[in-house]
Amino acid sequence: MHVHVVGNACVDTTFRLGRFPSAGETLNAVASADGLGGKGANQAVAAARTGAAVTLWTALGKDPAGAWIRNCLDMELSDVQVNEFDLPSDRSTIVIDAGGENFIVSGVACSEAFDPIAQTALARRIAPGDILVMQGNLRGSATNACLRAAQEKGARTVLNASPVDAAAPPNFGLAEVLVVNQSEAKALTDRSDMAAAADALAAKGAGTIVITLGADGCLVLGPDQAGSLRLPAPHVEALDTSGAGDVFCGCLAGGFAKEMSVTSALKFALAAAAIAVTRSGTLLSCPSASEMAALID
Ligand code: ADP
Repeated sequence: MHVHVVGNACVDTTFRLGRFPSAGETLNAVASADGLGGKGANQAVAAARTGAAVTLWTALGKDPAGAWIRNCLDMELSDVQVNEFDLPSDRSTIVIDAGGENFIVSGVACSEAFDPIAQTALARRIAPGDILVMQGNLRGSATNACLRAAQEKGARTVLNASPVDAAAPPNFGLAEVLVVNQSEAKALTDRSDMAAAADALAAKGAGTIVITLGADGCLVLGPDQAGSLRLPAPHVEALDTSGAGDVFCGCLAGGFAKEMSVTSALKFALAAAAIAVTRSGTLLSCPSASEMAALID
């Protein structure tokens, strides 16, 4: 079963500072680095490392950043389908202070212009039984069109509604599996109790609801379940949880590609994400292909 990840890829530029600057102030960073980022890229890499056949469908600008991103993607993925725009490539600046607090500013011109069904061969390539994975970075209408095309082809759909657009979310009725974290679940449903939030998300039409609960694992509510179940995360010493949600989603799709049940794929995703949180970095913390293989055996 082929995994199609449709989403953003960007340059993440991280600056580490002793303290945040005040308005109008210029500060020298203690350290800075560029890395491949974007939830689409992160989830595609995680899915590929599970051993699944993966295609990433993404949008880049015709600029040096776009060429750099493409190069990084080609080192990780065997099939990258890029739609190029006369726009700046997407990028995020991540500023982290000595206490580990951060703020992030993103340029998203390519993601906003990306309409995968109209601009790529995605609809022709999706086959029955394939898995389409999407996130919340593209316009809701573009996301809905992809999910609808996948459903019409008899493919499975995994929607990670992150970042969340509570005012205009995608059509959850098009998601066989909806994955959100606790703050996204709360923003979408106005419920603080996660079992109640899962019920509210099910009422919005999603098939299986998965709410990730950080160190507490995840909660799952399937279409035939009377009530939600909690699956625990392996107990680990967490160092940096950034990107854990993307490892989780990529591995869930990878598990589906290996024809695991929803519960088995979730347990695999929990195990892989627990490895990721013990290391620093977003993509850097993603388990390697051999670590993934060891989790599956
Ligand atoms: P996000 O990273 O999107 O905010 P979560 O914090 O819920 O979402 O984390 C996503 C997943 O990463 C969790 O469901 C869990 O599998 C894993 N995870 C996160 N934090 C920890 C932790 N401290 N220990 C073990 N696993 C964790």
